[in-house]
This record gives sequence, structure tokens and C-alpha cells, in this order.
Amino acid sequence: MQRQVKLSFFHFLRNIHLFHGKIIPGEDDMVSNKNRNKKHKQKKKLRLPVIFILVALISYIFSFIFLNKYEMVLTLKGDNPLYVEYGEEWEDPGVNAYEKNAYIGFIKSKVTPAVSDNITDQLGEFTITYHAKTNRSEAEIQRKVIVQDTTAPVIELLSNPDTYTPFNHPYVEEGLTAIDNYDGDISLSVTSEEKDGKVYYSVTDSSGNTATAEREIVYDDRMPPVISLEDGGDILLEQWSQYTDRYTAEDDCDGDVTSNVTVEGSVDTAVPGNYTLTYTVSDSHDNQAVITRTVHVIEKSDDGTIPDRSKIIYLTFDDGPGQYTDELLDILDKYNVKVTFFTTSAYPAYAYCMKRAAEAGHTVAVHTATHNYATIYASDDAYWADFDRQNDAIAAQTGSRTTFFRFPGGSSNTISANYNQGIMSRLAQQAEQKGYQYFDWNVTSGDAGETTDTQVVFTNVTTQIASNTEYGRSSVVLQHDVKDYSVAAVEDIIKWGKENGYAFLPISAGSPTAHHPINN
Ligand SMILES: [Zn+2]
Repeated sequence: MQRQVKLSFFHFLRNIHLFHGKIIPGEDDMVSNKNRNKKHKQKKKLRLPVIFILVALISYIFSFIFLNKYEMVLTLKGDNPLYVEYGEEWEDPGVNAYEKNAYIGFIKSKVTPAVSDNITDQLGEFTITYHAKTNRSEAEIQRKVIVQDTTAPVIELLSNPDTYTPFNHPYVEEGLTAIDNYDGDISLSVTSEEKDGKVYYSVTDSSGNTATAEREIVYDDRMPPVISLEDGGDILLEQWSQYTDRYTAEDDCDGDVTSNVTVEGSVDTAVPGNYTLTYTVSDSHDNQAVITRTVHVIEKSDDGTIPDRSKIIYLTFDDGPGQYTDELLDILDKYNVKVTFFTTSAYPAYAYCMKRAAEAGHTVAVHTATHNYATIYASDDAYWADFDRQNDAIAAQTGSRTTFFRFPGGSSNTISANYNQGIMSRLAQQAEQKGYQYFDWNVTSGDAGETTDTQVVFTNVTTQIASNTEYGRSSVVLQHDVKDYSVAAVEDIIKWGKENGYAFLPISAGSPTAHHPINN
């Protein structure tokens, strides 16, 4: 091709020379002049395109030989190194990339480089490589990206509007969270310091960013003192016995305020009757506590030894604790009445009620863990195993085992005969050998199936108590704290009892056992 072009080039050169150099003679001047003019014009016409073509050819050859050289130009847009905050969105600013002629700068064309795909969102450094290549040139450029964490964690303090700190008490944390953009939940790393009525919090994330927060402590005193009557609630005294009133009062802010307690009423043990003592105490922030107890002074019988116990009520509740036990304990607290619970493990979620009951002065006793007749009355060993399981559950809550219990179905039940002949007689005997004492009842509320009516429960209980009194007997009442309609009757039973001069007592070692005749 080049050779051909060169040939053509010399050929043209020669032609140009001929046109210029050779004189053509003419036969007729006019004609020859005309022809000469004509030829001259033709020559002139020919010259321009030839020059043009020549220039084009020279340019072409020149450019082909010398200017066909390109280079790739890559320059970074944006910062290098580029700092990026961890977790935040960011965009690669990219590069300016073009391919340009090595000699004639304005001859250039855009190119799109390939970008390395090692972009990460981890803390630290990484490199982005941009690489552009055509068949004429190639270049590469890199950018350093530094992913950093300069964001401090966020501490959020939880605050309950009803929460306050009693005066002179350390602040009890209401709750907080500390969330970091990189470390996540670092709530457990928060440190706090209580100073001058404020709490100062601080936490530092793994990149060294520290967040602080503070809260003002709300001091208040809304709790009245707690009066504790050392002999429980109601007291039963025999005529002529010594009576010493013992109590303490403790306030959450003021501490021991026993000396501030005033007692209204007095007890004359020479005169049988019911004496109500009212204990009142206030703390330094005017929160007042009032509590009462009744001291029952019981007349000695004619022989001077056995008191009349016909005005004593032992309320007993079986089969719980369950979902109504807390409500029942609230009612008993309200009237300062102590009762007895024969417990099972049928509702383990309420096991804590046994602790609450024991702390309030109630008697917590065994009614077996499963209360399943087929299981417990299968054999003597099966019964005591189930018994021990419940006694362990009681100990876990109250700190000590009990020697008091009630047979499921009572000692007179006949259903046990379906599983084991004679078992009740044997168990009753074994109980005595083991040092255990079982209790039946002599007042049935009917809440185990005869009725679901609170008013009927109330009538059943009060009628039978009144009858027991007529016969000179104490009353051992059977109710179930797993029956809401039965628990609902308790407040009225207590009111009725108090109005009629009865004393409510929890079962203790000397209490009547109200034993039934054993039928199996
Ligand atoms: Zn039962």
C-alpha cells in the first residue's frame, strides 16, 4: 500500500513537470492560442485537486507514521485517601479516564475503567484499583479508603415516672441502653457514678469514642413505715395470763421508728373478751401506717385449765398456690388475719406465694406435690415421695420444711381404696411415727364442687362456724385458693368473724386437728 502510494506520488510529480516544461507547437496561432489557453485552463483546473490530494496524502502518511501513539490518562476524583464513616453510606467518587494522543493533546476519548470489587464495610483500610485498557494503551490507578468509627455510642436512660429514690438511699438503676454503631449493644459496659444527687454515666466503644449521660435523682418518701407485730396478728390468751405487747416499726427513710408508735387500746387479761389494739406511726415525711390486732382473752373453763376455743377460726386453703393466692394474701394483709395453706405444686409459677405467705405469718403446709390420687395412693412409698417433693418445694420458698399436712381428699376419703386397700390407715399411722401432724376440717365451704356461688360459700362457712361455737368447738374451715368465687367470699367471712368476736389463727402445734374417721 505504501509502495503504491509512493509510486503514484512520483507519477504525479512527473506529470506536473511535463505540464510545466514541455512547449507544444501550434499550426495556427489563433487555434494554438485558443488551444494553449484551453490547455492552460485545463492545467490550472488539474493543479488544485492534485495539491489537495498530495497534502492529504502527506498528512496521512505523517500521521500514520508519527502520530499514531496514544496514552491512557487516569486521575482520581475526590479525596485520596478517602475517609468513610463505618455504617454510613458512601459513594466511590470515581476517576477521570480518557485515552489521548501522545502528541496532539486534544485528540482524546473517554474510557470507562474497570473497578476492583474488594470494597468492604469493615473497619480499616482497603484499596480500590481502577484499570483502563484499550488495544492502544493501558493504565492503572489506586485509591486508599479508610473506614473509621468516629461515632460515639448513644446512651438512652429509661425512667419510670412513678419511680423515686427514698431519701438517704442509693439510687437504684431504672434501666438504660447503650447502642454503638459498630459494637452494637454495649449497655453492660456502661459505668455510672452517683454524686451530689445525680448519676453520671460513661461508656466507650472499641474505637475509643466515649459517650456520657447524666440523670438527676428524684428523691421522695411515699412509703409509710412498716409495723411488725411480733406475735403475729390476732392473739389468743387464756384468762389471767401475762400479756406483753411486742412490735417494731421500720421506715425506709427514717430507719427504726418503733419509739414513735402509739398504741390505742389496752388488754385486761382478767376480763375475758376481745381487745382491739390500734398501732399508729408516721415517718418524718408524714406517711402514716395504721395496723390493728385483736387480743382474744378466753375464759378458763370451770376446772381452770382448758380455755373455751369455740371462738377461734382456722381458715385453711387447699390446692394452691395458684392465680388467686396473691389476691387472697392481699385481703388477709388488709385485715391482719393469719391462715393456713395446704399447698401443692400444681401451679409452679405461683410457688413464690408460699414465700410471701410464710413471711406474712401464715402457716404453709403440705398437701402433696401432684395431688393425683392414682399416683399418691398407689403405695405408701409413693405417697411419702410425693409428700417429700412438696415439702422440698416449701423449703425452697420458706427456708424450712413443715410437719403439718392434709391428705388430698381428707383422711376420710374412700377414693384411695380404688388404688390401695387400707392405705389411709397405714399413712395416718406412719405420719405419727414420722412426727408429722395431719389436719382435716369441720367446716366445708362447698367450693370443691357443690357450689360456685360466692354467697353460698359465705353462708356455708358462717353457718357451720356458728354451729361449732354452739357445740364449743373451734372451726377449721376448708376452702380452695384456686377457686376465685371462694377467694371472693373471704373478706366477708373475716368481717363477719370480727364482728362476732371470733379470732382467726393459723394452724400451729396445739391447734385442733379436726380429724375425720378413716374409711380405708
Ligand atoms: Zn385438695
